[in-house]
Amino acid sequence: MHYKNFPMVPRVIFGRGSFNQIQEILAPKRVNTKAPFIFLVDDVFENNPWLIDRIPLRFLDQIIFISADEEPKTEQVDTLVAELKSRFTENPSGIIGIGGGTLLDMAKAVAIMLTNEGSAADYQGWDLVSTEAVYHVGIPTISGTGAEVSRTTVLTGPEKKLGINSDYTPFDQVVLDPELTRGVPQNQWFYTGMDCYIHCIESLTGTYLNAFSQSYGEKALELCRNVFLEKNVRDEDSEDKLMMASWHGGMSIAYSQVGVAHAMSYGLSYLLGTKHGIGNCIVFNHLEEFYPQGVSEFKKMVRKHDIDIPTGICANLTNKELNKMIDIALMLVPLWENALGKNWQEIITREKLKTMYKKM
Ligand code: NAD
Ligand code: ZN
Repeated sequence: MHYKNFPMVPRVIFGRGSFNQIQEILAPKRVNTKAPFIFLVDDVFENNPWLIDRIPLRFLDQIIFISADEEPKTEQVDTLVAELKSRFTENPSGIIGIGGGTLLDMAKAVAIMLTNEGSAADYQGWDLVSTEAVYHVGIPTISGTGAEVSRTTVLTGPEKKLGINSDYTPFDQVVLDPELTRGVPQNQWFYTGMDCYIHCIESLTGTYLNAFSQSYGEKALELCRNVFLEKNVRDEDSEDKLMMASWHGGMSIAYSQVGVAHAMSYGLSYLLGTKHGIGNCIVFNHLEEFYPQGVSEFKKMVRKHDIDIPTGICANLTNKELNKMIDIALMLVPLWENALGKNWQEIITREKLKTMYKKM
């Protein structure tokens, strides 16, 4: 047996208003006055002085607003890196991502590509990065993906949707300030929150499960149940809890894997651009066969919060389109193996996937 030696986020600050300490966190990391801090910020905050006015800009530091309407693409990372290289004489002192999974992944990928040659697409896969990234900081403003703790940055490239999984991917610093999640719209709060819930179910029912993953997964599941089933209001307590659920859910899958919902949702995302949170919900809604208890509880949460889960999005796809989605889903071998064991191919055939997608 060979055990993976995982890196973890070495520094984390937690607390309502902890974002105010960003200046004292960054100051010692400034390389020199020509090496700026670059803040990649979700453009949903562009006209939000409550957040923007607290970003401490000195010397050549810059805020770059990025839309989270689409998930990050390798090409977008390459363009941003080329722009930063041409605009400044030195590599940045740090990249700070402020937003949801989309912005956190952008920040990780840009930090890696500033010190590694070629295109981000060359590094999609496992352990292909050879040089340490630029110092990078993650500041989530919505909870659920676990991107703040994970060892991956998920990118859509010309051929595949796959993460840059490497020891250099995790953030050097994370700022967990639950107050920043205050303005998240209700449906999005649910979709991204369910990403965490689904991480727990896929990890806890998977064949890769071990005590490490289980301990984090159970805690995250307990927090999700409290936030989405037991509580009747979305308050400060639930913001705090969901932020920690996301963290624990991410830790849980670090040492195990996700499963069927994620594999199939990657297919939807690649072909239709369906975003991760909602895509997982669309798929999970139809996975009673694999996760009977998890899906039944999920449906209770959907009803409780009166959430709209789209259906019929694959009904009119051509065979060619369905086949592309199936190709993408089948590439994710470890996910299938975790969900269904070594002989997963006996259960999951192309025909089976086609029938399942057509219901979604
Ligand atoms: P997101 O970052 O795409 O944001 C979803 C929406 O919420 C956007 O419209 C955004 O503008 C808005 N939003 C975010 N914070 C807000 C706030 N405080 N107030 C108002 N609106 C706010 O959503 P997500 O679900 O966090 O991330 C999805 C992405 O994360 C996908 O690209 C997925 O591939 C990636 N992901 C990465 C990992 C990883 O480990 N790296 C894990 C899971 C998912
Ligand atoms: Zn996920």
